Amino acid sequence: MYKNSPIAAWRNQKSNYLLQGVQCAVCKALFYPRKYRCYCGAMQFIPYQFSGKATLLSFTQITMPSVEFAEYSPYCIGLLALKEGPNVLMQLADITFEKLQVGMEMTAVFRRYFAEGEAGMIFYGIKFIPIELA
Ligand SMILES: [Zn+2]
Repeated sequence: MYKNSPIAAWRNQKSNYLLQGVQCAVCKALFYPRKYRCYCGAMQFIPYQFSGKATLLSFTQITMPSVEFAEYSPYCIGLLALKEGPNVLMQLADITFEKLQVGMEMTAVFRRYFAEGEAGMIFYGIKFIPIELA
């Protein structure tokens, strides 16, 4: 399966592990995850390291997760405005749905996503937690 391939995980490690996106070389627009064509039409990008600081714009609780995330159920996902501009949809951690509030300051943390069985690859990535818990 391409989505869970170790090759794709390796190629996307800076994006998935470090919250690295891209900046358009022409109009300076920022993107996460990376794009291959900017709104301005340019196809030249330079890597851009996001700070991981964000504001929570909206959130919801997932009670019927996909198989990979069943162990976290119920868990929350949030729409976050990164400090540098782009909005991202990410999994939230270390907090319950009842304690979340729109406008909360959040920060990115490196966490385990899921494993492919007992002998399979373990996938890691970015989740967001309230900044006061960091
Ligand atoms: Zn552009």
